[in-house]
Amino acid sequence: MEFTFSQYQPRHLEIIDTTLREGQQSSLLHDHHKYFFSTSDKVDIVRSLILYGVKFIELFAPTVSTQEAADFSAIKQARDELITQRGYTFLLSHVRCHPDDVESAVKAGADGLNMYIGTSDQSIAHKHGMTLNQITRKARDLIEQVKKSYPHLILRFSGEDAFRTREVDLFRVYDEIAPLVHRLGTPDTVGVATPAFVAKRIRALRERYPDTDVEGHFHDDRGYATINALEAVQNGMRFIQTTLLGIGERSGITSMTAIMFNLFVDKSYEKLDGYHIRGSYPINVFMADKLRKLVPSKEPVSLTNRTHAAGVHSKAVINDAGTYEAHPLDQFGVAETEVLLGPLSGWNVIHYFLHEICGFDIDDATAKAVTATFKKKVYNMPPGTPPSQVLISIAEKDFGLHAINVPDEFRGAVVQTMTDTANAADFGEISHSTGIILRSKR
Ligand SMILES: [Zn+2]
Repeated sequence: MEFTFSQYQPRHLEIIDTTLREGQQSSLLHDHHKYFFSTSDKVDIVRSLILYGVKFIELFAPTVSTQEAADFSAIKQARDELITQRGYTFLLSHVRCHPDDVESAVKAGADGLNMYIGTSDQSIAHKHGMTLNQITRKARDLIEQVKKSYPHLILRFSGEDAFRTREVDLFRVYDEIAPLVHRLGTPDTVGVATPAFVAKRIRALRERYPDTDVEGHFHDDRGYATINALEAVQNGMRFIQTTLLGIGERSGITSMTAIMFNLFVDKSYEKLDGYHIRGSYPINVFMADKLRKLVPSKEPVSLTNRTHAAGVHSKAVINDAGTYEAHPLDQFGVAETEVLLGPLSGWNVIHYFLHEICGFDIDDATAKAVTATFKKKVYNMPPGTPPSQVLISIAEKDFGLHAINVPDEFRGAVVQTMTDTANAADFGEISHSTGIILRSKR
């Protein structure tokens, strides 16, 4: 039997992850031609998101390319395999207000359509040249047709570039569309919104359309992606678009774990309902490893925030971790056991741990083999053995791996540890200098 959106009770906060749509438009992936997501990367990402508790995942319209169309079905299969374990997750297709996009999404088996059309003066002048009346008529006719033919679909309509659209213009379009859709989007497509503007706009939309949920999408051009999302959520926005590590066009959008972390710090615990927040650091690590980079230091849920310079500072941390750690990062999985043994641990996380944190020279294939051995051995170790010790011993003894040699002058500049500083003695210091993370043996 098909599960439909009408059977779903939305939570206080619904993350719509768009790592595989907005995230794939990141300059990291395209301009530099440095990283690409393979089909299996995409499936891994979707599985991790579902395990984290995300119920809405946005994908490209299958019309974008034959590869995207093929990947859609692989992703759908991965989703279906997790239904008994984690419940239903909705796959939403990002489509233009065009029948071809709609047909391709429906044919691929999308649960919903995230429709968009430009409503700002800039879009009207340079993109499609339609008047507001024409936009409204075109969208309304298409949505009415879609509702007739496919009544099960979850529908969202967005005026692209909503924060450069005058409120009166946005209302003119949304007044006619709101009764037809589940959500109205307010994307800050070019990253111009301020927190005060966001609060005002969301309150106005909530007031005018009390029966329609509002969805946000905030770009980080001004460095406001996190605070704008937080402001929107605190002003009654239920659906918020995020990506892992905030990747996206230009400087990206709101990072999923950044908004979760801030809601926790602000004690909005009800909004975290249904999310596995201890998986936050592991999912960031997982994504960073896919991108072959470190979890960025600007990311609130990162190891960097538990890193302390050597010397006086480190001693203060050893005496009282609270001195320099104001935030509950352990709740967000910045802990060795969660990273290595939690439900989100997998070969990417093992690869990241061994390569980036321990400084081993290790390729993907070896990381996969080490992971298999680790999973076999770790549960047979005497209680209290740190999992990192098991892993490092496997890497060194079973696989003959060794840490990159650290020149003396680079040692000890910054110490990184997975857990509290007291435990660091068990598995050695990690030096981080000149952009490389290195392991120095005691
Ligand atoms: Zn965007």
